[in-house]
Amino acid sequence: MPYVYDFDHSHPRPPKELKDLLGGKGANLAEMTSVLELPVPPGFTISTDACRAYMADGWPKALDAEVAGARSRLEKSMGKGIGDASDPLLVSVRSGAKFSMPGMMDTVLNLGLNDDSAEGLAKQTGDERFAFDSYRRFIAMYSRIVLELPGEEFDSLFDAAKELAGTESDAKVPVELLRYLCESYQQIVERHTGKPFPQKPADQLRGAIEAVFRSWNGPRAIAYRDREHIAHDLGTAVNVQAMVFGNRDDNSGTGVGFTRDPATGAKGSYGDFLVNAQGEDVVAGIRNTEPISELKKHFPKVHTELLKIFSRLEAHYSDMCDTEFTIEQGKLWMLQTRVGKRTGAAALKMAVDMVRPSDLGITKAEAVSRITEDHLDSVLHPQFAGSGYTVWAKGLGASPGAAVGRIYFTADDAAAAAERGEQVVLVRNETSPEDVHGMLASEGILTARGGLVSHAAVVARGWGKPAVVGAEALRLGPHSVTAGDVVLFEGDWVSIDGGAGIVVAGQVPLTSASPPAAFATVLSWADDIRKGHLNVRANADTGDDAANARGLGAEGIGLCRTEHMFLGEDRLPVVRRMILAHSPEEEADALEELRLVQREDFLAILAAMDGLPVTVRLLDPPLHEFLPSTEELAHKDATVGLNPEERRLYEAALAWREANPMLGTRGVRLGVIKPGLYAMQVRALMEAARQRVVDGGHPIVEIMIPLTVTREELALARGWVEDAVAAVNKERTPRPSKGAKAANGGGSGKDGKLLDVTIGTMIETPRAALRADQIAEVADFFSFGTNDLTQMTFGFSRDDVEGRMMDAYLELGLLPRNPFEVVDAGGVGELVRLGTERGRATRPSLKVGVCGEHGGDPASIDLFYRAGLDYVSCSPFRVPVARLAAAQAVLANAPADEMRKAADPKKGAKKAKAG
Ligand code: PEP
Ligand code: MG
Repeated sequence: MPYVYDFDHSHPRPPKELKDLLGGKGANLAEMTSVLELPVPPGFTISTDACRAYMADGWPKALDAEVAGARSRLEKSMGKGIGDASDPLLVSVRSGAKFSMPGMMDTVLNLGLNDDSAEGLAKQTGDERFAFDSYRRFIAMYSRIVLELPGEEFDSLFDAAKELAGTESDAKVPVELLRYLCESYQQIVERHTGKPFPQKPADQLRGAIEAVFRSWNGPRAIAYRDREHIAHDLGTAVNVQAMVFGNRDDNSGTGVGFTRDPATGAKGSYGDFLVNAQGEDVVAGIRNTEPISELKKHFPKVHTELLKIFSRLEAHYSDMCDTEFTIEQGKLWMLQTRVGKRTGAAALKMAVDMVRPSDLGITKAEAVSRITEDHLDSVLHPQFAGSGYTVWAKGLGASPGAAVGRIYFTADDAAAAAERGEQVVLVRNETSPEDVHGMLASEGILTARGGLVSHAAVVARGWGKPAVVGAEALRLGPHSVTAGDVVLFEGDWVSIDGGAGIVVAGQVPLTSASPPAAFATVLSWADDIRKGHLNVRANADTGDDAANARGLGAEGIGLCRTEHMFLGEDRLPVVRRMILAHSPEEEADALEELRLVQREDFLAILAAMDGLPVTVRLLDPPLHEFLPSTEELAHKDATVGLNPEERRLYEAALAWREANPMLGTRGVRLGVIKPGLYAMQVRALMEAARQRVVDGGHPIVEIMIPLTVTREELALARGWVEDAVAAVNKERTPRPSKGAKAANGGGSGKDGKLLDVTIGTMIETPRAALRADQIAEVADFFSFGTNDLTQMTFGFSRDDVEGRMMDAYLELGLLPRNPFEVVDAGGVGELVRLGTERGRATRPSLKVGVCGEHGGDPASIDLFYRAGLDYVSCSPFRVPVARLAAAQAVLANAPADEMRKAADPKKGAKKAKAG
């Protein structure tokens, strides 16, 4: 396989599909050149294969000759030579990995300049100043990136030159000084490296290509890949491209354009440009840009041509594209395109719009597959509550959502404050990739300069973090920021609204978010796709949470942790009385009191989830969790002393103390030693269910035993549950509640039958998964508790290892992901698959779900779908993400034609499954 491909190379497949080989940028440059025939400066791509070969064994032997060949073809097509003393060609050398990693790797511009070609460029352009300004920039950039010299010496020399020239503007430094700078810069290089600055184009080119390869493993790039979960072994491609100059004169310029608004999704071109500038100036946000609509005034012909190109790109890619373009002396050049990043609101709006035949006419399946977890999260973000605040400064709303935090002015300070547990807003003039760690640690980002495509805006939008950029009224000092009469100091509170571009001094209360109409539309398509394949339930313990979850699309409750009902201020004393009871009568009294409150809780939950299944888990945690800490009581005992009540609690806490409580007396084991507890819970639940029936409701009750390990354990627990159910069913029918429309008289369930419940178990231990065949003999359903299953499969304490060692494990590559976040496919995932298979071998109708935290994680949901689960259950706010991820799992695992049918419920054949 060759390592180097010209942009117009004839590939057997469309080059846009060859991102693995050519990287995203190279693939799209080739597509624009060879398929769309757009005006793209010619060039060639050094493949990711070459980078991987370099990483494994150093510079590949064949590469020099291939680069030389591509260089000479490029020179021929341009009619100029790199380094030529009379008519030089300059090239850019840019990184371009499969996945976009904005600003995380290196770029070298103006390559090919040397002492001779700089003179040649001056002659060729008739602009000596331009030539030596370009040469100065090149030496500094090459020295920093390729020779790895510190940039400060070059910067301070340039500042001194400006001072000498009596100007603050880079553009006003006279040519004599620029020539002098080029010489002095070369002396700096020689002093540091002991060698002259490389003058031969071939040396310059090899150095720059190698530097880009190296930058794949630079700390910024690694940190970015860690955050975005991009594999570290992909490598980057390198694009060498003829330079065009937007900074030639006022008939030149450069810009970034989107085919639709990436912040709102509105149709029509969008972006920024600068007259007489280089591309980096727009992205760096150092000069304030003009909107693309203004291009019409400065360059009417180019504006028309650009809009035509935008609509061709949209039609060709069937999606919103972003572009970089340059105008050189009136001629338009396209430097890059790709499917553009967008906010959550924009992604949803575009997905709905683009499905219309009058728009791009994409399929609903395609629309659903373009939405990400982050998109949904960002429309679920909070906003400013009410309007009772004073606007302190205004800027551009670069990334929606509101954030409140204490201000810090450097990324390091912001990260350190967040580490201390503070809520932080990072305030900068503009951001650069060096600030990423501080941005990551912040609730929101505020900059004084820059446009909507500046670094701060693009990065924040990608992460769904609120950001306001270009708030020009802000004047930043080292430890304070002023706007008008108000000065805020480091650590003061600020609030930002990244949708409206508003900055408020102080803390503004926030509301919960209200997603746009397109949110419901896209999720309804997702529901159509996953219907009959994978249901989504919520983990909820109160009527309010259940109602909220239902509003977010939950199709039942997969886990009601009844212990949460025990922790209320009014309930804890009763629970403690039950634990402290000296006689069966005392224990029965406490249980009776708990029964009454639990009954009310269950009524509220069953009402909120009427007609949908509700899985109630009987008490799970070790009893010491309901008692005060032994350390605190011991301390009090040794200092001020304990009162009699406290002494009893202390003794009980000591008695229930276990060396390893997560592996001790909890779950069904607790039921074995305190059977009255489970009987009380079942009674409270069944009474609530009967009441719901009498009141006209349709409760569907599933009773779940936690932490079962053997068939015998579950058979015993099942016996208690069945006895309690039978006992309640025999009792007198309750009277309808006040105000209820009494419907199902007799209180005996649907169709006059006694109220029916199903009884199942959590599968939370490796043994339970392995012996699922036996356990299924006495279970109607399984629910995998992947939190405990992960804990016990890895032997990782779920309470300890994440804080202490997970970072080190991830950094050293000992684990690909935190297994408490994404289910471990090879171990825990395998137990889920095996447990399901073995359980269903015994009982084919066995219903199987998952209710650990992984139930809301997209990658885990894909695994659960493939393992044949009927439903996933997650926290209420994750329900929309789980609905989307479930649909995407169905699409990703379906053959292509079924995928199309799945998106259209009228055509799609589905296997029906109850959830
Ligand atoms: C689990 O272990 O995955 C589970 C859902 O139970 P809990 O988190 O309550 O232990
Ligand atoms: Mg558990």
